[in-house]
Amino acid sequence: MEKILNYINGEFKPSTANEWMSVYEPATGKVYGELTNSNEADVLEAIEASEEAKLSWAKLPQHKRSAYLYAMADEIENNIHELALAETKDNGKPISLATSVDIPRAAANFRFYAGAALHQQSEAHDMGELAFNYTIRKPLGTVVCISPWNLPLYLFTWKIAPALATGNCVIAKPSEVTPYTAYLLCKIAAKVGLPKGVLNVIHGEGPRVGNTLSTHQKIKAVSFTGGTKTGSIIAGLAAPLFKKLSLELGGKNPNIIFADAPYDEMLETTVRSSFSNQGQICLCGSRILVEATIYEQFKADFIKKVKSLKLGNPYDEKTNVGAVVSKSHQQKILDCIALAKKEGGKILLGGNAAILDNDFKEGYYVEPTIIEGLDQDCRTNQEEIFGPVVTIAPFETEAEAVAMANSTNYGLAASIWTTNQRKAHRVAKEVDAGIIWINTWLLRDLRTPFGGIKNSGVGREGGHYALNFFTEPKNICFTY
Ligand code: NDP
Repeated sequence: MEKILNYINGEFKPSTANEWMSVYEPATGKVYGELTNSNEADVLEAIEASEEAKLSWAKLPQHKRSAYLYAMADEIENNIHELALAETKDNGKPISLATSVDIPRAAANFRFYAGAALHQQSEAHDMGELAFNYTIRKPLGTVVCISPWNLPLYLFTWKIAPALATGNCVIAKPSEVTPYTAYLLCKIAAKVGLPKGVLNVIHGEGPRVGNTLSTHQKIKAVSFTGGTKTGSIIAGLAAPLFKKLSLELGGKNPNIIFADAPYDEMLETTVRSSFSNQGQICLCGSRILVEATIYEQFKADFIKKVKSLKLGNPYDEKTNVGAVVSKSHQQKILDCIALAKKEGGKILLGGNAAILDNDFKEGYYVEPTIIEGLDQDCRTNQEEIFGPVVTIAPFETEAEAVAMANSTNYGLAASIWTTNQRKAHRVAKEVDAGIIWINTWLLRDLRTPFGGIKNSGVGREGGHYALNFFTEPKNICFTY
């Protein structure tokens, strides 16, 4: 049985608590590993290691830090198949997705920030004869990166890479549900010779170590991606202590489809934006709003296309829909579907757990589910489900579409489908979201700001946004 250990000060070790948690393979429902369940003492040890390493890491010339990050990217790419298999085993996602998206993007995160470390610039402000200012950006010291289970390595590296690139030492906490690729990443860090104490990874239950991670005096910033409720707990602890906070939280993203949409492309992409990773991507469109004149046609075509998705063994290259992440999450999704029915929703497709054969019969599968007949203000359309469940609803006018899109407390992402460019940009301006796609979905340029508004979060990741988050500017003014 695989034993997943902490990585502290360059050493793999179990928690001093010597407590273990079972790690499940969602595809089969079987336990495949044991995870060390950390406590406060482990976090304190990681903080000590990080504090010890931080000065020499921060003083290292950029090109040397960058070289470590490039080496990490290379090693992720060299081990793409092993890492993709580990991600599928841990998370239940189709191997095709892990191989084409999760792992390549994890490598891209390191590569991108390895390059960014070389190209960081500082500002200068000339005051003529009077004085001159220059601004340097200093690393914060020890920072915490907490990531969720849906895109385990991808989101883990999205935080760690910019933190390391800017000269910080990191204490990272992956989700207890999907710890495997974070553990393998530590093996990569050891292999490339990343100095000890620069990256420390603590495993186990979040709430057990959350208090120390959010409040310890030496922790200068917390970068968190996860649920809105957890984000609020962390903010409640860290904000009064004036720690820097970046919170990437939940979403309830609208997908607005006008009658003049590029139809075939829209249909293809809408299937993906609804059910990729079993709907467990924070950017998935879960509320599909369709102009009334094409509503019936869209409904029929969408159902037909979703029916053709292959649900099953995630290790099969042809599978489109794998397992959801855990038994409790499967139950949560099924409860949400039951609530939708109670609220008057009509299940057009799916609505049940899917039972597979043989090795996979205990796995956690949910049929892709399409629901209609619900107002936007019901719980089903207001609360995040984070599973393969979408609602569809018609709208009559552009104003109504915008009002429906903006009717939730979330504001992470939105997609707009129309060939009328003026309308597209008008609507994009009005929709409350940090990320808008016009006639596409999930297309990412790592330089652009990533994050949401309202209950979807505070702050932005990506490009210089993350570089700025993980550094503090210092202005130096002198006279001649
Ligand atoms: P959670 O909020 O439950 O957990 C996220 C991480 O926080 C996990 O590592 C978890 O550990 C840890 N954690 C839990 N409690 C605490 C605590 N008190 N202090 C410190 N850390 C804690 O989210 P999920 O893992 O369930 O992820 C799904 C959520 O993430 C969805 O809401 C989704 O929308 C959101 N998300 C947002 C994204 C964005 O960019 N906006 C991107 C991807 C997902 P443990 O697992 O051990 O509890």
